[in-house]
Amino acid sequence: MRIGVPKEVKVHEYRVGLVPASVRELVRNGHEALVEAGAGASIGFPDSAYVAAGASIVPDAASVFGQADMVVKVKEPQPEEWRRLRRGQILFTYLHLAPDPEQARGVMESGCTAIAYETVTDAHGGLPLLAPMSEVAGRMAVQVGARCLEREAGGAGILLSGVPGVPGARVAVIGGGVVGSNAARIACGMRARVTVLDRSLRVLDALDREFNGNISTLFATGDSVEQAVLEADLVIGAVLVPGAAAPRLVTRDMVRRMRPGSVMVDVAIDQGGCFETSRPTTHAEPTYVVDGVVHYCVTNMPGAVARTSAVALNNATLPFTLALADQGFPGALRANPHLARGLNVHAGRIAHPAVAEALGMEL
Ligand code: NAD
Repeated sequence: MRIGVPKEVKVHEYRVGLVPASVRELVRNGHEALVEAGAGASIGFPDSAYVAAGASIVPDAASVFGQADMVVKVKEPQPEEWRRLRRGQILFTYLHLAPDPEQARGVMESGCTAIAYETVTDAHGGLPLLAPMSEVAGRMAVQVGARCLEREAGGAGILLSGVPGVPGARVAVIGGGVVGSNAARIACGMRARVTVLDRSLRVLDALDREFNGNISTLFATGDSVEQAVLEADLVIGAVLVPGAAAPRLVTRDMVRRMRPGSVMVDVAIDQGGCFETSRPTTHAEPTYVVDGVVHYCVTNMPGAVARTSAVALNNATLPFTLALADQGFPGALRANPHLARGLNVHAGRIAHPAVAEALGMEL
C-alpha cells in the first residue's frame, strides 16, 4: 500500500503522523511511504531521516493526498485537507467528530474511509490511542506544577522535592487513571508528598499496591477532596467521566481558602475542567491567578513536547497502521474488532453509533 504523511497544518501542531522508525517498519513490510517535505523537521526528524528510512519526499500536501491509498495524520483534517481527501482513500488520525458537525460533513462529502484514533478500543475497555497522550500530560503536569511553585512564576517559592531538613511539597492528584497515575509516579519520583483521590476502589487498590506505602490514597468525597486541596501546595485535576463534562470537584470557595502561592494544574480542562475557577489557556499564556492561586489549564499539553508525543503516539498506532496497510479496508477491521470501533466515516456516512448520535445523524 502507498501511505502518505502530510505536514500538519493546524496552528501550533508540530507532531507528525509517522516518525521515521514507523516508516522503516512499513517499508520493511513491503509498503511505500510518501512524506511531505518538512513534515517532521521542527521536532528533529529531517527529510533525510525519512529518506534513510525508505520514504520518498514529495513537495506538498496535494502530492501526498493525491497519490496515497492511506493518509496517516495526527490532527483532525482542516478544511483545506477535506477537499483533498477522496473516495476509497483511508484516513487514519484523531478526528473528534462528535462536537464538530462541519468537519463531519466535510469528511463525509470526501467519500473517504475515516478511522479515528480516539474510538479504537482495547481488550481492557481502554482507549489505547488516547492513553499515550494522557501519559504525557500526567507526567508533564508535575513538571509544569513544579515550575509554577517557583516564586518568579507566581508560586509560594517551594521546591517540589524539599531538601534534607525541609519537607517536599504536598501534591494532591484528583483522579488516579492514566493521567493521575503518571502524575503520581513523577511527583513521587521527585520526592513530593503525594495523595491520590479517586472514586474507584479498584484504581486506589492498584495504586496502593504499586507505590507500596510511598503515596497516600483517599476515596474521593466532597470532604476528602476539600481536605486534600486545602493541605496541598500543588493540586492536579485528572478526572474523567466518559462521555460527560468533567465534574467541578474543587469549588471557588475552596480555592479562596487555599494558601496563596499554591498551584492548580487542571489537566481535565479539555473536558471543561474539574476546578470551578478553571478556564482554558494556551502554551503562549499558560497560567493566570485566582485568589493568589496559580492556575495552569492548557488544553493541549502534549503539544509542548511534540517529539516525545509523536513517538509515543506512533508506538501505539503502528500496529494498527501496519494492519491497515497489510490487509486494507475492510480486511483489517474484520480481523480486529478493536480497530473496527475506530471506523467513524465510510462511503459518505457516519459509521460509529455514538458519533452519529452526538451529531444527530443517521448511521
Ligand atoms: P482515565 O479514565 O484513565 O482516568 C480518570 C479517572 O477519574 C478514573 O480513575 C475515574 O475513576 C476518576 N474519576 C471519575 N470521576 C471522579 C470523581 N468524581 N472523583 C475522583 N475521581 C474520579 O482518564 P485519563 O486518561 O487519565 O484522562 C483524564 C483527563 O485528562 C481527561 O479529561 C482527558 O481528556 C484529559 N487529558 C487532557 C490533556 C490535556 O492536554 N489537557 C491531555 C490528555 C488527557
